[in-house]
Amino acid sequence: MELRVEQSCPQCGAPVTLAETDRLLTCPYCGVKNFLRSRGAFRYLLPARSGGPERGELLYVPYLRLKSTVYSVSENGIAHRIIDTTRLGHPLPGLPPTLGVRPQAMKLAPVTPGTGDRFLRMSVKAGALMENGTGAVGWSGNRGRSEYHRAAVGDTFSLIYLPLARDNSHLIDAVTDNPLVPLERLESLSLSGVPFNPRWQTSFLPALCPRCGWSLDGAGDCLVLTCDNCDSAWEVGDHGLQRTDWQVQPGGPETSLYLPFWKITAAVPALAISSFGDFIERCNQPLLPGPLWRDRAMSYWIPAFKVRPRTFLRLARALTVSQWRLRPEDGHVVPGFFSVTLAEKEARQAVKITLAACAVSPDSVHPALPGARLKVAARTLVFLPFTSHGYELVQPHTGAAVPGNVLQFGRKL
Ligand SMILES: [Zn+2]
Ligand SMILES: [Zn+2]
Repeated sequence: MELRVEQSCPQCGAPVTLAETDRLLTCPYCGVKNFLRSRGAFRYLLPARSGGPERGELLYVPYLRLKSTVYSVSENGIAHRIIDTTRLGHPLPGLPPTLGVRPQAMKLAPVTPGTGDRFLRMSVKAGALMENGTGAVGWSGNRGRSEYHRAAVGDTFSLIYLPLARDNSHLIDAVTDNPLVPLERLESLSLSGVPFNPRWQTSFLPALCPRCGWSLDGAGDCLVLTCDNCDSAWEVGDHGLQRTDWQVQPGGPETSLYLPFWKITAAVPALAISSFGDFIERCNQPLLPGPLWRDRAMSYWIPAFKVRPRTFLRLARALTVSQWRLRPEDGHVVPGFFSVTLAEKEARQAVKITLAACAVSPDSVHPALPGARLKVAARTLVFLPFTSHGYELVQPHTGAAVPGNVLQFGRKL
């Protein structure tokens, strides 16, 4: 489901339509770039039909918007599922349990104050909805068949409010005007809601390099912005722009583009894996350990961009196993850098899944996953060169390959 949101440029006020995953607003009118931020989940409204003057105040009911890829490791191996849904977040009877495809049919608006409008609180825990959500969309993963580990990677959480109004007999859906609940059924319910809270509003952060003041670059959906003036990279965190360590594996003249990976250096004490040599041995990889592999700290190479789960796991496994062939170094920002669309904290969720995927004999790794904790020592964003070979992009140092078309598809995940 692809959602569109109509934002206003904070500089000139012009309306700009963004995709749901877009975080960088580049205004086509005044050219100013701003990063979108929110305290907690982003909140959007389904626009009410501009009804007659008798419409009165609106009551907004929250739906949790959830988009994620869930991976599950069990006796049966590794399964995955893309979750893309909305779930009613308030126990008001008579309302549809999901919004279905409706949010797709119209532009969402960021939450804004309307006179007298009230908002029902989200009163179902997101975690519970997530659990039920995976079941409700027909997937309980490997649950029940001794599931060892489950992780959601690349979560998008937001709230979408459905506007409700009253006519003389019913609470009605203010988008379609359909009657939903007879008013007499509401008497016993407390539906006062809360007024608009300014903290819910999207705020904007100018996309300027905190180090040199130059304009930062990035596509609309990127989560790490780069400065080609001082060769720095910036991640948007809770406290504004935070500098991110990054490196690049130099590519030859035939390089088509550079794909970003999070290199997460971490030990897993429960499995006695702290060096690359430990990892090769523990996972029964058919490789003769190199002489220095015991001294080389183990890193997990997780794609820093969204792709289909099968491709994601295949790339993570190929690069993690072949990391000894890579020698990334400090470099310059170049135009061929592909957007980072998966945050580092999401990539961290994929480390144990990657470890599971690298185990040639699952029995020696998978049953130990429930108690396994990561001790993360470092994280670096690394851009790796890929060369176009027909329909495939191939990483020349490791032979890792990705179908070229999945990159565009992945942006919609
Ligand atoms: Zn503007
Ligand atoms: Zn700079």
